[in-house]
Amino acid sequence: MSELHDLAYWRQRAATVPMRTQAYIGGAWTDAAGGATFETRNPATGALLAHVAACGGADVDRAVAAARAAFESGVWSQMPRRERKAALLRLAALIEAQREELALLETLDMGKPIGDALLYDIPEAARTYAWYAEAIDKLYDEIAPTDGNTLATITREPLGVVAAVVPWNYPLLMASWKVAPALAAGNSVILKPAEQSPLTALRLAELAEQAGIPAGVFNVVPGLGAEAGQALGRHPDVDCIAFTGSTATGKRFMEYAGQSNLKRVWLECGGKSPHIVFDDCPDLDRAAQAAAVGIFNNQGEICIAGSRLYVQRGIYDAFMARLEAAAARMQPGDPLDPSSAMGAIVDARQLDRVLSFVDAGQREGARLRLGGQRVRGESGGYFLEPTIFECPSQSLSIVREEIFGPVLAVTVFDTEDEAVRMANDSPYGLGSGLWTANLSRAHRVSRRLRAGLVWVNCYMDGDVTVPFGGVRQSGNGRDKSLHALDKYTDLKTTWIHLE
Ligand code: NAD
Repeated sequence: MSELHDLAYWRQRAATVPMRTQAYIGGAWTDAAGGATFETRNPATGALLAHVAACGGADVDRAVAAARAAFESGVWSQMPRRERKAALLRLAALIEAQREELALLETLDMGKPIGDALLYDIPEAARTYAWYAEAIDKLYDEIAPTDGNTLATITREPLGVVAAVVPWNYPLLMASWKVAPALAAGNSVILKPAEQSPLTALRLAELAEQAGIPAGVFNVVPGLGAEAGQALGRHPDVDCIAFTGSTATGKRFMEYAGQSNLKRVWLECGGKSPHIVFDDCPDLDRAAQAAAVGIFNNQGEICIAGSRLYVQRGIYDAFMARLEAAAARMQPGDPLDPSSAMGAIVDARQLDRVLSFVDAGQREGARLRLGGQRVRGESGGYFLEPTIFECPSQSLSIVREEIFGPVLAVTVFDTEDEAVRMANDSPYGLGSGLWTANLSRAHRVSRRLRAGLVWVNCYMDGDVTVPFGGVRQSGNGRDKSLHALDKYTDLKTTWIHLE
């Protein structure tokens, strides 16, 4: 049997996989105050998976009190770094050991193909904990070059209580990008998973306990955004919000911070990333494949999805034929089938939203070149074909708005200036890509693109060693790499007078 197994194997495991449904606060499993719950459903079938604790203000108060008490006690924040490192390495090893179960929970909860969860989401999450664990005892503080009889030290200190509020598209992985550096830096953390996908966060709490992370240091409060999320955002004793999600919610968190204690707000928000293919593209096949994966992978539910494609006129027909063929190979299938390239859209509401953009595209004058239909309806799940529109104008809503589904807007262009102007014509600035064999053009255009990430002759490459994040309304701060530690620490300067 291959590492990926087969559909029958995963169906059988799915029938019996255990699911945690209570909140994890102060080292104990607990119902939400008043016993409130919300449903989480399998987007591939519409079937109910579990009723999960719906935390509200009272639960968030308890979690913040537990996190604060743990922080002040020093049980984690003052723990020798090599011991903190050892605990986080144990957590990474446990995630790796439970890879199949975590991948299965992710697929059942949010619809991504099991192969992607197994080969990417879960091992990347484990790697993220291991990487920050290894980093934390190799960092030194600074001494400023002051003159005379003074010594000025510059030290990094943890913030205190960090709340991580994350989305449903990569539930465990997005959480790890916040939780791992925040814990490594010595903070206490409260994780609020998205209401569509709480299951792996709760399993993570079990593994953290097993790894020996002390009670109160890591807490999970599942719940609705407008309740648990808002309560964290407005809480006077939360020091930092680390958020990944939509730009609209990101703006709310800035308001909450202003209305409460001016907590630090780090935002990884939406995108409408441009992907440009010039006439001198070195490899049309590879570029077409990257463009298809760049928008249809994870059902298009990716913040860095290359959802706006710009193709230069000289190669337009040749490129589009290749793109169509690559897209046609990415038809949605049962997410539990390891051969499926695309899974189910996360819920009925998101499918309706994506379909409304497909309608708008046709109404506003775009040409539907591929897909556009809901499929596999008999499964009870939410599946959409890979969809490609050719767009005569940049003012269409499918060109301007983040759809967060498998819908690609393609525009033809003539000159480099025109491509850069169209690429930058967006309120977002997260990912961007370009394909050219001309080194000077690669540098020139990379510099001109207003984006946090630029890929040249590739798309969506990533690694925990490399910063990730956006500019403009795609957010601020960076996840991953040592730079992420800046978000979860403050600089302290200490002046010492020497006799
Ligand atoms: P969302 O903003 O609706 O929800 C994200 C989180 O915020 C969830 O936990 C949700 O419960 C919470 N939330 C929602 N409303 C809230 C409120 N009023 N107050 C407080 N918390 C609230 O986003 P989503 O639909 O879960 O995820 C899709 C979005 O995430 C897309 O815009 C996508 O681009 C973005 N995203 C960005 C990145 C990145 O790194 N830049 C990565 C993944 C996803």
